[in-house]
Amino acid sequence: MVKDPICGTPVDTEQAKYTVELWGRKYYFDGATCARQFLHGGRIAYFSMEIGLLSQMHTYSGGLGVLAGDTIRSCADLRVPLVAVTLLTRLGYLKQELAPDGTQTELPDPWDPAAFMTKLPNQVQLAIEGRQVVVCAWLYEHESLTGGVVPVIFLDTDVEANAPEDRRICDNLYGGEERYRLMQETILGVGGARMLETLGLNVLVYHMNEGHAALLTLELLRKFRGDVETARELSVFTTHTPVGSAMDQFTYELAGRLLGDYLPANIRELAGQDRLNMTLLGLNMSKYVNGVTKAHQAYTNKLFPRHHIRAVTNGVHSHHWTCRPMRDLFDRYILGWAVEPELLVRADVIPNEELWEKHVQAKQALIDAVRERSGVEFDPAALTIGCARRSTAYKRPAFFFSEPDRLRWIARRYKLQMVFAGKAHHRDEPGKELIREVFSNIEQFKDIMKIVYLPDYDMELAGVLTSGVDVWLNTPLPPYEASGTSGMKAAHNGVLNFSVLDGWWLEGCIEGTTGWSIGPWPSENPSEADRRRQELEDLYDKLEYIIAPTYFKNRDVWIQLMKNSIGKIAYYFNSHRMMMRYMTDAYVF
Ligand SMILES: *Cc1c(COP(=O)(O)O)cnc(C)c1O
Repeated sequence: MVKDPICGTPVDTEQAKYTVELWGRKYYFDGATCARQFLHGGRIAYFSMEIGLLSQMHTYSGGLGVLAGDTIRSCADLRVPLVAVTLLTRLGYLKQELAPDGTQTELPDPWDPAAFMTKLPNQVQLAIEGRQVVVCAWLYEHESLTGGVVPVIFLDTDVEANAPEDRRICDNLYGGEERYRLMQETILGVGGARMLETLGLNVLVYHMNEGHAALLTLELLRKFRGDVETARELSVFTTHTPVGSAMDQFTYELAGRLLGDYLPANIRELAGQDRLNMTLLGLNMSKYVNGVTKAHQAYTNKLFPRHHIRAVTNGVHSHHWTCRPMRDLFDRYILGWAVEPELLVRADVIPNEELWEKHVQAKQALIDAVRERSGVEFDPAALTIGCARRSTAYKRPAFFFSEPDRLRWIARRYKLQMVFAGKAHHRDEPGKELIREVFSNIEQFKDIMKIVYLPDYDMELAGVLTSGVDVWLNTPLPPYEASGTSGMKAAHNGVLNFSVLDGWWLEGCIEGTTGWSIGPWPSENPSEADRRRQELEDLYDKLEYIIAPTYFKNRDVWIQLMKNSIGKIAYYFNSHRMMMRYMTDAYVF
């Protein structure tokens, strides 16, 4: 028995009357309509520079790719007809090694695509700097237990017909200089749109996950002979960047040299007068544009007052990010939660002792992982704080150590331990310096607190950390965190959030109920100095007077907070809800 990928009805493969051979594989259907729908039905084409599907497939770097992966996981569960397009980054993002002082070395992170996907016979060509570059495609299929299948197309230029340099265009995710990046974005946007055409897919909507994919609109313009209106009608754009300076931009000199005739005569009207701004191109060329949280929508509206920007708040895939012990528990008490995560609103039905027991198991898995990766033996009884994300200036990874004397005082009163992780981009020197700063604090605190920095943060480690710690700490500098998603993973596992009021936490935080805030609300409009003072006050005061005492002396209250985290955060901040929003708001209009 298999399930019909369109309607989900069980089908007996021995007796199935309706089958379709596609991409070297046979699919079984319950009826002719489903088979026809599968072959010719309209699809949403989702373009993303990075997609995190499996830890072993090194085609993602961080939050953006993980979000794309969760999008695909939810679409497969919900049987949303989506096809995803990304690059086959054979050397990955980077493998992180850390010296004893925290100095990061970036190594290539190769993997074998053939172990996970199949190469399709289809090819397309496009001109880059006047050279014809051949692009081929690999197919990965993400299948859900509901029968849903989402094909993911990985674009690849490593074919013999190409010049040696062109064969390496897709190799390194976010590698190289501007020229390399623009070549990659050309392959993704222009090459990807052409590949879908060659594959014969009936695309109704093109969804650009961040500006990297915006060049696909140039291919649409070419297809519709420069008709901006028609191209716009088909396009949806999600921006992820809250500040103008961080947006992907290229000089027109470079863009002209690389893209040649693909650049339409009115490109400056569409993408900015001075530089080719990918966010602006996405905004101007899309009928529907959204930010990834309500606050991010507001910031983006201010940056681009002439555009109508909506919000679809991010979510994470509930089943994927819930650890095994918690899954078992939810299966027992909240039947159907994995396909309808809104049912997690009923988390209060879970008995306290059982929730605690599962948390203890998840914490033990973390303790084992810490031992394996660092040799440090964590204490199961200590209040364990996790802090892991990309190491870059605005994320402020060393913020926790801002007042060492105060922290020392608290660590003397309560048994605390901490786990850090996170990579810095290879050209982000301040980000790398921050890792060294965390290491130097680890050294200074070693007499009083166990603190480890685990190397090579990836999805697998993220799963262990966001389920195994007691408190998840996030201290970005507002307003740079467009959303953030790791705290949502934590909430699914009954881990409590303690975070700066930015991004998704502005929507998720109910003070003292779903977790705790650090610093003022943006509506308080604080000066820089006031904000920092209040952040430090909250960080240490709440840790000393609320969080640690509740954890050590009031376990029942703590467990109720864990239930709130599941019942009032996870039930909403999941990618099933997010994708249903995209369906009703962005895809079907
Ligand atoms: C979830 C995840 C992220 C995103 O975390 P943020 O809190 O949004 O920064 C980054 N990297 C990995 C490996 C993840 O799993």
